[in-house]
Amino acid sequence: MREDVLDAVNRIDEARLWDRHVQMARIGAIPGNGVNRPALSDDDIRARRLLISWAEARGFSIAVDPIGNLFVRREGSDPNAPPVLAGSHMDSQPRGGRFDGIYGVLAALEALEAIDAAGMKTRRAIEMVAWTNEEGGRFAPCTMGSMVFSGARKLEEFVGVTDNDGMRLGDALAKTLAATPDAAQHAFGRPVAAYVETHIEQGPRLEQEGRTIGIVTGIQGLRWFNVEVFGETAHAGTTPVSARKDALKEAVAIIAAIAELAHDETDVTRFTVGRMLVTPNSPNSVASHVLFSVDLRHPDPARIAQLGAAVEPLCRRVARACSVKVTPTLHDDPCTFDAGVVGAIERAAGELRLPALRLPSGASHDANYLSRVCPTGMIFVPCERGISHNEAENATPGDLAAGARVLAATLIELANR
Ligand SMILES: [Zn+2]
Repeated sequence: MREDVLDAVNRIDEARLWDRHVQMARIGAIPGNGVNRPALSDDDIRARRLLISWAEARGFSIAVDPIGNLFVRREGSDPNAPPVLAGSHMDSQPRGGRFDGIYGVLAALEALEAIDAAGMKTRRAIEMVAWTNEEGGRFAPCTMGSMVFSGARKLEEFVGVTDNDGMRLGDALAKTLAATPDAAQHAFGRPVAAYVETHIEQGPRLEQEGRTIGIVTGIQGLRWFNVEVFGETAHAGTTPVSARKDALKEAVAIIAAIAELAHDETDVTRFTVGRMLVTPNSPNSVASHVLFSVDLRHPDPARIAQLGAAVEPLCRRVARACSVKVTPTLHDDPCTFDAGVVGAIERAAGELRLPALRLPSGASHDANYLSRVCPTGMIFVPCERGISHNEAENATPGDLAAGARVLAATLIELANR
């Protein structure tokens, strides 16, 4: 590795990076060491302000776009060259951990600080980005900020989405944007030279195989559906079983059939029913209506397309006395990351002598949408026992800093291309 690059990389401050995770974890802290920081909430605003205070102390400039994606920029020598972006998200699951998302944001800021402290000039500007509403726990769907940034969907489609308290996304967004009145305003459609996202793995492989850095090759595809089963409520003691339209019993049969469809000896296919609403939800009444979610994932485009297409016909075939409605809610095809960015990450890890491994991402990330508009890659670091979307999520200060070092070296290379 070049002397000047190594000098910048060595200025990654492990203690500062860890301390910032500790400070961020206080915003929306919940019992069990977890974090509940919904997108566009008062806690999201507090987290944004804290981040901006660190960025401004270093003299970096701040900008937002109309969906509240937040950018922190360190200027390059060619102000007209499209910037290199690095970041992730600051919102969390309702019972989330201290590292999912926020690590990629803090690692990017740390890389900017290290490069700045070394006085290094890069041709392109480097920008840290915090994407709005990656988790989708408050306002569905997930990865909304990067989806709109990439042009895959329009902001207007989402302003009317409401949370569980009836709050409109448009109103929560206006409040969030009003909290950063001094930020410059960016329109959508700005060209980007490359994007790198650093994230905890959220799976067990790096830890199991004793590697520090995951060189992510792509993200598997997914299909989401809401399945509704319509029956008729009746008395549990008096109504003959043969005369019932039992929505819950048929929902269970449908779920078993999809599990059979998704059965995979190689354990690559992922099938989850994580949400179910039962009406009237009473122990001695036959269920009249059931809504449940379906989440199917696979890295192969042909296989995920085949699985997705099979869901609705299967539901109709299995239902007997009840009727069924299947609504697709999310459709992400698998993405393969850019060979140039993946190669830069692999070189950086190698030159820093960090044990690394190439692997696909099982979870979806903002990088999926960025890969549609610019060369994109991701860096994973280990998380304890692979636990994520859980208060117990954990990572070590040393591994977090190692990922930030690989990120800094990668950004320098990409910003001078
Ligand atoms: Zn995340």
